[in-house]
Amino acid sequence: MTDKTFYIETFGCQMNAHDSEKVIGTLVHSGYTQVETPESAGLVVYNTCSIRDKAEQKVFHRLDQFKRATGKGKVFAVIGCVAQQEGERIFEKAPHVSLVAGSASYTRLPEMLVQLEAGARRVTGLSLDTEETFDTPFTRRDNPHRAYITIIEGCDKSCAYCVVPFTRGPERSRTSESVMREATELARAGYTDVQLLGQNVNSYHDPSPAGWDFATLLDRVGRIPGIRRVRFTTSHPRDFVKEIIDAIDENPALCNHVHLPVQSGSSRVLGRMQRLYTRDEYMRRIEWMKGARRNIAITTDIIVGFPGETEEDFQATLDLLDQVEYDSLFSFKYSPRPNTAALAMEDKISEEEKTRRIMIVNEKQRAIQIRRNSGLIGTIEEVMVEGRNEALGQWIGRTSQNRTLNFTRPETDGEPLTGKYVPVRVTRAGPNSLVGECVMSVV
Ligand code: SF4
Repeated sequence: MTDKTFYIETFGCQMNAHDSEKVIGTLVHSGYTQVETPESAGLVVYNTCSIRDKAEQKVFHRLDQFKRATGKGKVFAVIGCVAQQEGERIFEKAPHVSLVAGSASYTRLPEMLVQLEAGARRVTGLSLDTEETFDTPFTRRDNPHRAYITIIEGCDKSCAYCVVPFTRGPERSRTSESVMREATELARAGYTDVQLLGQNVNSYHDPSPAGWDFATLLDRVGRIPGIRRVRFTTSHPRDFVKEIIDAIDENPALCNHVHLPVQSGSSRVLGRMQRLYTRDEYMRRIEWMKGARRNIAITTDIIVGFPGETEEDFQATLDLLDQVEYDSLFSFKYSPRPNTAALAMEDKISEEEKTRRIMIVNEKQRAIQIRRNSGLIGTIEEVMVEGRNEALGQWIGRTSQNRTLNFTRPETDGEPLTGKYVPVRVTRAGPNSLVGECVMSVV
């Protein structure tokens, strides 16, 4: 390829967004220059996600748009979950694509591009048979204050609705030494807020002789000088141990927020989903959090309309929401995904019924959030400033509990506060965010 410019577009979760940061770093290190539009690029990279329904159609539609908009003479690369899932079928459906690679093959991207430069018409990287993680020193990070660190890739579970085990391969943890090195370098470069990532982040197990578990790694990252906040996502309830809560209690740099996806409040549905825990086992973890010394915010994911979910099962989910009182949740309607066990299950729930159920969940949760957020009025929260909303004349901040807290501090207007930590008194609360006033000096 003589034109060494590339454009990258990313869909999906934080894992995908962070993979793109690493792909960008790898390409830049290989002599490529990133450009802002597909039209001006020699190489167009599309990082895809297949977690939701109709993802494949959307991918092919977008690839077609790229082709129409950019004309001939470009190299198109499809990476990410749809690439892994569809494999060489992508070449049949979108003949203008010349590179297809899943996440387990990203370390080979430069080599695959060299093959294309040498005249190969099509190259693939689809093997899931790897011990490696995509661990690269060339990660390009666009946020100067918050950084993501992948500590574990893939998934060894087999939830009946999920494509991840098919698209991201088996679990592979990085060594604690390599994670600590990356986190220390980030702290030296001025990053204060890091987020440890993995599909099952708390299933982390250090493959080196040190043998750290997740709670130990979390604590040690939080003790690196300069690191002020550590978050982690996503946790699996089965592997969620009390030591994680103990670490949060002991170490103020660990954010007092846990995202623990429950998916359903019915043990019967959880069994059909192959989630590997019952409602009671899940609730034991919630009790650990509620019994902690720090006030830990708890958030979750809910799927409504899983095949066979009865009205009674659904009511059990609503009851769970009342019992836990989550600080926030992501709700999804079940959608069938290729290769998954749930595809073959009987008793599908109609779209109409799924819509009814999700609306009830969201309405109930909205009332809970208004109640919980209102309870914070009058408290002083430390926020990390993420930016400014000029139209409203407010700074945008995030609390340790992961709440958005927008605030004013007139005397600092014009002064760059982004990336700083400031104490803010909460004066108003809505369902999704808080409003407040900065009360003291900026650190
Ligand atoms: S734990 Fe279940 S939902 Fe999470 S990535 Fe693995 S299979 Fe998917």
